[in-house]
Amino acid sequence: MDMIDPFGRTISYLRVSVTDRCDFRCTYCMAEDMAFLPKKDLLSLEELDRLCTVFIEKGVRKLRLTGGEPLVRKNIMHLVRQISRHLESGALEELTLTTNGSQLSRFAAELADCGVKRINVSLDTLDPEKFRQITRWGNLDKVMDGIDAAQAAGLKVKLNAVALKDFNDAELPEMLRWAHGRGMELTVIETMPMGEIDADRTDQYLPLSLLRAALERQFTLTDIPYKTGGPARYVHVAETGGRLGFITPMTHNFCESCNRVRLTCTGTLYMCLGQEDAADLRAPLRASEGNELVADAIDEAIGRKPKGHDFIIDRRTNRPSVSRHMSVTGG
Ligand code: SAM
Repeated sequence: MDMIDPFGRTISYLRVSVTDRCDFRCTYCMAEDMAFLPKKDLLSLEELDRLCTVFIEKGVRKLRLTGGEPLVRKNIMHLVRQISRHLESGALEELTLTTNGSQLSRFAAELADCGVKRINVSLDTLDPEKFRQITRWGNLDKVMDGIDAAQAAGLKVKLNAVALKDFNDAELPEMLRWAHGRGMELTVIETMPMGEIDADRTDQYLPLSLLRAALERQFTLTDIPYKTGGPARYVHVAETGGRLGFITPMTHNFCESCNRVRLTCTGTLYMCLGQEDAADLRAPLRASEGNELVADAIDEAIGRKPKGHDFIIDRRTNRPSVSRHMSVTGG
């Protein structure tokens, strides 16, 4: 029953983008003036639940809700509550969420009540002005309230920061101390060339090898074998006692251990974040009340999962490697 791709990788992790809409417009992620999907093209929450359930029956053990901003999808907690039955039955090991934190103070307690144990909060700066600048529309205070609420509800919070040249590189040591001081892990991520944005990606791109070298002037970083099943590689930071993750889609390809596929809110399945190929699951889902057609379509899609991505950011290749924005698949 397990989903195994042509390279022998077992697919056990599903990321579900429940909406392409977001209440922020992070400059490296979206253009300011984005055209979003018409609401009629979206799968209903019941259809999303049905698809998630088929994936879980086919061996998915870990499921992450993302977006767009997952917490701006109307009635999203209904879906979280529905999926949580698979945690109770033991079929699903973990249900998590990646969020910008803006709505977290409203939802943290209910997420915890649904069996969510850990969440990722995306946060690129601790400076309110810079936060407004990078998110275009965001309010840092609301995100801080959200993080407080999440920790108060007992959720483990991991922070994700996209490393951006001349924007937050100088600030990352302070963010590291702050995050570890509050018992939160921090992971830094290289910016990826996905979708047209208003800015020039070559101006933003910071290879994490350079960031690591800069951090090593202030911190003692020791590689550790810690793994979460994802692409991050971790170091222990002696001065803070915490863990720092590096996700390096540009400078180090980690596809050999890829265990994931990504489902969008229209029922499109992407087998790789960095490739255009996709499979439509909405038609087989709607074609029959039973799940055989959709299960067959999933098998067919997994059978063509590519070996890996090949992102490039340089002045000569000044165009996105894939045309869709990160908000389509949620990272
Ligand atoms: N709204 C949620 C959030 O902010 O976490 C979930 C969706 S967001 C697209 C997921 C993650 O992708 C965020 O951490 C964001 O910073 C990151 N991201 C967006 N565009 C990116 C890009 N071009 N390269 C690298 N990371 C990107």
